[in-house]
Amino acid sequence: MKLQALMDFFEQVAPLHLQESYDNAGLITGHKDMEITGVITCLDSTESVVEEAIANDCNVIVAHHPIIFSGLKNLTGSNYIQKTIELAIKNDIAIVAMHTNLDNVFQNGVNQRIAQRLLLENQEILKLKDPENPDVGSGMIGNLASPMDSMSFLKYLKEKMAVNCVKYTKLHKDTIQRVAVAGGSGGFLLNDAMARGADVFITADYKYHEYFDANNRIIIADIGHYESEQFTIDLLSELINDNFVKFAARSTKVVTNPVNYI
Ligand SMILES: [Zn+2]
Repeated sequence: MKLQALMDFFEQVAPLHLQESYDNAGLITGHKDMEITGVITCLDSTESVVEEAIANDCNVIVAHHPIIFSGLKNLTGSNYIQKTIELAIKNDIAIVAMHTNLDNVFQNGVNQRIAQRLLLENQEILKLKDPENPDVGSGMIGNLASPMDSMSFLKYLKEKMAVNCVKYTKLHKDTIQRVAVAGGSGGFLLNDAMARGADVFITADYKYHEYFDANNRIIIADIGHYESEQFTIDLLSELINDNFVKFAARSTKVVTNPVNYI
């Protein structure tokens, strides 16, 4: 099967026109007439992931984050982006990114997977892109089946999202039931989370001063960027394996998270 057919499928799942203006989702290396031998899914298409693809006879990498975000002026191996692109091209590996287009869809999107892990009910897009379409927009909001003690919820969050560390603001409420989520850098959605009555807003990449914006109105819980999106890796491989039989998709075994905790 040619890569074009996989790209056509992705266009149905998360059309490229739904990506944000700053983004670079889509086909980054490779040609659409390539015959697919196998697929590796990942968050970050690093050099290690390209090496993993080569070792497993997979010539397509489907990543969440685009390895090329802004323009490349040369390919001289001077940074990890250039090295990764060179290795991919030398080995005829296609790299595809499903980034903010996958963030912005309800069905099979990054945030639906988070909401499912937290067993949120009545899931809705947090901030609609166009009010006329309830299935497209940023973040997700939903309710726990019953209220949970706030600290118990944070422990539940750690367990369900498999994180070692949760950074959170003051627990100004005793219980939590309404939960807003946004995988990755979702801080821009805080006002929407508050406006829609969320007790807690789960996202990543919060800076020190931004935590003050919680202001006893909501609990901000920062679970880490990689951690918030890690289940997107399986989401992508499952989507592919559920829809294609001529080749297999596997989730990367490389942990690409550049952040460690002690
Ligand atoms: Zn991300």
